[in-house]
Amino acid sequence: MSASILFLGSGGARFVVARQLRASGGMWMRLGPTQIHVDPGPGALVRALSTVPPCNPRELDAIVLSHKHLDHSGDVNVLIEAMTSGGFRRRGAVLAPADAFDEEPVVLPYVRRFVERIERLAPSSGPYRIGDVDLHTSMLHVHPVQTHGLHFHHRGLRVAYLPCGRYFEGLAADYAVHRPDVLVVNVLRYRDEMNVDHLTWPDARRVVSEVRPKVAVFQHFGTKMLEADPPRLAAQLEDELGLRAIAAYDGFVLDLETEIAAATG
Ligand SMILES: [Zn+2]
Ligand SMILES: [Zn+2]
Repeated sequence: MSASILFLGSGGARFVVARQLRASGGMWMRLGPTQIHVDPGPGALVRALSTVPPCNPRELDAIVLSHKHLDHSGDVNVLIEAMTSGGFRRRGAVLAPADAFDEEPVVLPYVRRFVERIERLAPSSGPYRIGDVDLHTSMLHVHPVQTHGLHFHHRGLRVAYLPCGRYFEGLAADYAVHRPDVLVVNVLRYRDEMNVDHLTWPDARRVVSEVRPKVAVFQHFGTKMLEADPPRLAAQLEDELGLRAIAAYDGFVLDLETEIAAATG
């Protein structure tokens, strides 16, 4: 059974997203027969359809948001329409933090009728069943809106996604509990210059060294991270920590079983 993650974007932060220095389409996950779109930011639908071969939104089982910021949710409504054939075929699920539905909602009320299931995610909870996948959430991140990480478990395969948020004591330990094979980390900043609620490169390094996945993937880069050359940083980290480390790029396909097998050699 095949399992992969297609990165429909690898950029983060307002400046990179506004100029589309890197795309912001989120991740299209295929875990066996189950397809999940995670964090469909601006351009997600166009990127999905222009991939070769194209991703088919009508085959999606669910759309999942880590949080409601626009770089993670800009295309969520149009994707719900695409998933449900313009609202004519009621199907699929949308799972997102409660505040994505309730206060200043990003998931519009009128498209909610098109899906079979709306799930308000809570921190440290689950499993939420999506097809052949069990989803658990992490503890609450330190970020201006309700944000949690996502743990996808599919037949012994464990993929964790650590979205935006500030580093704090206990963050890595919370992710380590789920013993992920693959950890996708959003690392927006190279260094901490403005004291914002995002991981810096040294923070990301610390988290990965504590969680110790077999494969670490970095994405959601801001301008300074891009200038610092993510593939070079990942290669350094790989040597230092003795695990597989990859800098994602737009259109990158992570074949989960191949990478895990290569990492455990
Ligand atoms: Zn973000
Ligand atoms: Zn955010």
